[in-house]
Amino acid sequence: MLENYSNRSSHAIGVVDLDLFVSNLNFIFGTAQFGGNAIVALPRLRQSFYGLPDDDTLFFQRIAKEVFHELGHVMGLRHCTNHCVMQFSNSLNDTDRKPEAFCQECLLLLE
Ligand SMILES: [Zn+2]
Ligand SMILES: [Zn+2]
Repeated sequence: MLENYSNRSSHAIGVVDLDLFVSNLNFIFGTAQFGGNAIVALPRLRQSFYGLPDDDTLFFQRIAKEVFHELGHVMGLRHCTNHCVMQFSNSLNDTDRKPEAFCQECLLLLE
């Protein structure tokens, strides 16, 4: 589906308001193909998904982190163990703990 909106020289990132699932994990915040497209799912980034009052600042922060993370994968980065947006998020707590930025090592790899 995303392929229709992109060509070989550009990447598309889809942000969808749908819960995404893959076969060996029960749900995912997002996924990406190296050199291809990425997708980020919104429902689980919202406080109201967990029965909490919505917090737009937190919601947009989470979206930014997931988008940067998936774009990192599109550009060839792997998961990182530094204080870095490329840290793997197993849960929303992990997402909230990691920074919105790439660490020095990842930035060097991106160049
Ligand atoms: Zn990842
Ligand atoms: Zn890193």
